Amino acid sequence: MIISLKENPNQEQVKHLTKWINIMGIEVHEMEGARLGLVGDTSVIDNDAIALIRAIDVVQGVEIIKEPYKRANRKLHKSDSVIDVGGVKVGGGEFTLIAGPCSVESPEQICSIAKSVAASGAKILRGGAFKPRTSPYAFQGMGSEGIQLLLEAKKETGLKIITEIMDIAQLPLFDEVDIIQVGARNMQNFELLRELGKKGNKPILLKRGLSSTIQELLMSAEYIMSEGNENVILCERGIRTFETATRNTLDLSCIPVLKECSHLPVIIDPSHATGIARYVKPMSLAAAAAGADGLIIEVHNDPKHALCDGAQSVEPQEFEEIANKINQILPIIRKGKSE
Ligand code: PEP
Ligand code: MN
Repeated sequence: MIISLKENPNQEQVKHLTKWINIMGIEVHEMEGARLGLVGDTSVIDNDAIALIRAIDVVQGVEIIKEPYKRANRKLHKSDSVIDVGGVKVGGGEFTLIAGPCSVESPEQICSIAKSVAASGAKILRGGAFKPRTSPYAFQGMGSEGIQLLLEAKKETGLKIITEIMDIAQLPLFDEVDIIQVGARNMQNFELLRELGKKGNKPILLKRGLSSTIQELLMSAEYIMSEGNENVILCERGIRTFETATRNTLDLSCIPVLKECSHLPVIIDPSHATGIARYVKPMSLAAAAAGADGLIIEVHNDPKHALCDGAQSVEPQEFEEIANKINQILPIIRKGKSE
C-alpha cells in the first residue's frame, strides 16, 4: 500500500499516522514524492481502516499494491536499483559481464581464464567451489580451496568474484566473496535466503528456479530484502519446458516483465539456459537487445576436459567475440531507448 501525502503535510500528523500503522505490525518507508510505502502483511488493513486513512487531513490518496512482493516492487521504488559490487556497478544502464568456468578446477585453470576474460571486458569472475550436481558421484567442486583460488585470481586480475553458496553452514567462508550466488535449486531455500538477508549489503545473485514463476522469483528476492539486504540481482538461467533441443528454455520475455514490475537488475545466463556452447552467442546478443543488465557466461580454456558443464562452456576467444559484438550493439539499443 502506498499513501501519498498532501503538499507540506503537518509532520505531527504524519508521525501519528506512521505510529498507528506500525502498531499493526507494518513498516512505513518514506519514499520519493511525499509518499509512504507500507511493507509487511498489509491485509490486516481492512476497508474500514483504509477509509480512516483516506479521511486523515494530510492524506492525498491511498494506492493498494496487490502484488505480494513489496520491497522488490517497482511501485515502491520507481528508479532502477544499481548494485555496487566494490566499485563495479550492476544495473541502472551499465552492462556487466560476468564470466568464468562452471567450477574452479586448479590454480592454473582459474588464473588463466580470469586473465583472458578480464582482457575481453568481464568485470566479475565466476567459478563454482561448491557444486550442486545431479549425481552424487560427479565432481562436487573444490570447496573452500576453490574459494581461496578465486581470491588469488581476484588479486592477480582485479576482477570481483562470484561463487555459489549451497548451505547456510558455508556462510563464514564467503566473507571476502563479492557476490554470493544462490543457485536455481536453492531459490526457495527460505532459511538460506533469510540468512543472506541478514548479511548487511552483501550483493546476492538470485537464480530463478528450474520450474519457478517470475512471481516466485520475486518472492524469493523479497525474503532476502525483508531482512534488510536490498542488494539483490535477479538471474534468468532457463526454465524447464517440454523442449529437449536445449538444456532449458531461455525465458527472455522475463526481462521486460521483470523490468516492469521490479527495480532490481536482471542478468541472463545463456550457458545454463541452452546447455550448448554454440547457442551462447546468439542468446547473449538477444538478451542485450531485450534490455538485460548483463550476462553470466561459462568460459573454459579446455571445454572438452572441463570437470563440469563443458558442453555449454565457450572458449576465451569466443567470449571475446561475444563481448565485442555486445559492445557494438549496445549503443544502438540504448539510442532507441532514449528516443
Ligand atoms: C552454475 O551457475 O554453475 C549453476 C549450477 O547454475 P544453476 O543454479 O542456474 O543451475
Ligand atoms: Mn554450470
